[in-house]
Amino acid sequence: MSKERQVTVTCPHCKGKFSCTGWDSINTETDPTLAHQLMHGDPFTVHCPHCSRPVTPNYPTLWHDMKHHAMIQYTASDDEDVIAEHIKSAEEAFEHFRKMGITVKTELRIVTDRVELREKALIFNEGLDDRVIEMMKLIILSTLDRQKDEMPGELRFFVSNKERGFVAVSDAGQLMGTVPFLNDMYSDFVQLMTFEDDETDDYFVNIGWAADYLQAHPTLFDDVD
Ligand SMILES: [Zn+2]
Repeated sequence: MSKERQVTVTCPHCKGKFSCTGWDSINTETDPTLAHQLMHGDPFTVHCPHCSRPVTPNYPTLWHDMKHHAMIQYTASDDEDVIAEHIKSAEEAFEHFRKMGITVKTELRIVTDRVELREKALIFNEGLDDRVIEMMKLIILSTLDRQKDEMPGELRFFVSNKERGFVAVSDAGQLMGTVPFLNDMYSDFVQLMTFEDDETDDYFVNIGWAADYLQAHPTLFDDVD
């Protein structure tokens, strides 16, 4: 089940107060419509009843993809204490299940940005491994760098009309274009990359995670171009 509650919002435009539905958790199995809205739209923005302008209240949301054994916690804050609190409660929940004899295969990710929440939701929904995706981004970026192409600040995985790709975004947040998603590259990387079972604390999987992985496996991608 998804969990909703009423959140009280002060409109940043007219300062009027109102309340709206907030999503503490979104379950992809029980709420496919809401899940689709998160992946391809925006379930968070509402219109102020006083001035009709769009308002996007900020609050934490847990994305639960049961089919792909993935959970993504959006923290709504990059405060270390807030993040630590989210990790603690997730670990307590996992521990609770373990004590009940329920095997927890679920991957947990922590994100501090709703753009990242949507991106990871899409990745897991496609049945893909976000660690491999981050490595693909790192390798694509370094190839662009070598070719002296105009460098995007970042790449974001997207799916549009069932077509996978990466959108290139400049440091200033401008869309620069798209990079095709190469299925062969993905499957090659899946073959190359190994994950040890004790690497369970990969709560933050991003380009920095990929850089660390590459540092630990420096020659792994030498033949890839
Ligand atoms: Zn307003």
